[in-house]
Order: sequence, then C-alpha cells, then structure tokens
Amino acid sequence: MSARVIVVVLGKQGAGKGTQCKRLAQHLGVPHVSTGDILRAAVRDRTTIGLEVASILEAGQLVNDDLVNRLVEERFNDADTAGGALLDGFPRTEAQAEALDQILGDDGVKICINLDVPNALVAERLSSRRVCQECGAIYRDSDIEAISGTCTNCGGDVVQRADDMPEAIHQRLEVYERDTAPLLAFYEARGLLVRIDGDQAPQTVTAEILDALAERGVA
Ligand code: ADP
Repeated sequence: MSARVIVVVLGKQGAGKGTQCKRLAQHLGVPHVSTGDILRAAVRDRTTIGLEVASILEAGQLVNDDLVNRLVEERFNDADTAGGALLDGFPRTEAQAEALDQILGDDGVKICINLDVPNALVAERLSSRRVCQECGAIYRDSDIEAISGTCTNCGGDVVQRADDMPEAIHQRLEVYERDTAPLLAFYEARGLLVRIDGDQAPQTVTAEILDALAERGVA
C-alpha cells in the first residue's frame, strides 16, 4: 500500500465536512480538496465552467459527473497532492467513486469517514451558516465576522451561500439521500467506512477522526 493519505469525508450537507477537513489538513499536512469550493470559486470568478454551473449550484442540484471528475483529476496533478488529500464533497455519486478509483489507480482511497448527524441539526446549521467568499472560512450568523461581513482570516466578504436558503436546503438533502447515501454501502463493502458522530464539539470530532486514522495506520 502506498503511503499516500487519501481520505474521503462523507456526510450530509452541514455535517461538518468542511470544518473537519480544514482542521485535519493542518494535522496531516495534506490539502483539503473541496469540489464545492472549487466550483464556487469558478462561479465567483465567472470562468467558463463557473458560468455553466452557477444556476445548478444555486438550485442545489448536482453538477454533471464528467465535469467534476475532470476537475478532481486536474487537482491531483498539482504537486501539493503528492502526499495525499482530504476529499470533501467528492465522490458524491457511485459514478464519481468509480472515476476516483481510475484517477488514483493503485494509490487508492485509504479510509472513508462518514460524519453522522440528524436531519434537524443539519437544517439548523445550514440556515445559520455564513462563509467567506475568498477563503471558505465558515461562521455562524451570530459571529461577529458574519455580522460585520468581513473574514478575520483574509479580509474577504462573509456571505450566506445561495444554496443555504431554505428552498435549496430541502432540495440538497433529497439529492443527498438519492445520489450520495448509497456511497456508504459502497465503501462499507470495501471495509473502508468509519462512522463518526458529527453532533459533538468540532475538536472532539477531529480527535475521533485522527484516532480512526491512526488505528488503521492511515496517518
Ligand atoms: P454541500 O455539501 O453543503 O452541498 P458543497 O460545497 O460540497 O456543499 O457543494 C455545493 C454544490 O456544489 C453542490 O450542491 C453541487 O451543486 C456542487 N457540487 C459539489 N461537489 C460536487 C460533486 N462531487 N458532484 C456534483 N456536484 C457537486
């Protein structure tokens, strides 16, 4: 088995994938690769891809597999992924999970962490979530950064994501159940799935994930 640390982080929207991946990236020294962040940056910068996907993101639908697979494949050409990556928001369909195997070859997924959270908590977290448009830092609507609209990390604008509005939240959770929940069985069948209770303090969740990685000799 190669030493490359490839961790897939699964969980519903608002389960804490982004928060945990940012924390884990610091501990593990591998980059946080979020397809949502990549796509939102493309929308913000009005690139060709961004213009193509803007309305899909806003509606809470999934972007097509080929496009996302290509973005991830390109990201794995970057030197900073030589030691591995934390994958957040990818794969999200079985077709993407199969594409990921093709992209990584023998250097495959080492572990898949699922952050379990009840639906009621997810809806509450998403509607109070605010994000920095520049660096992706996550705040709550009551945080001073969210109120002032300025990120303390980078000075970027702190906003509410269009898909964190109530209509889109419902839509996204349905898409999750239909397209992404089946991935739990996919990774469980390979013996790679570890379930972590996401309804705990962020540092406790991080500690449990790091324990799971250590137990399995991943990092
Ligand atoms: P969340 O998990 O909270 O929905 P993300 O930031 O992961 O947030 O994704 C935001 C949006 O970006 C998704 O609703 C979807 O439109 C698009 N997206 C992100 N990752 C993928 C993917 N792997 N496949 C298809 N669409 C994606």
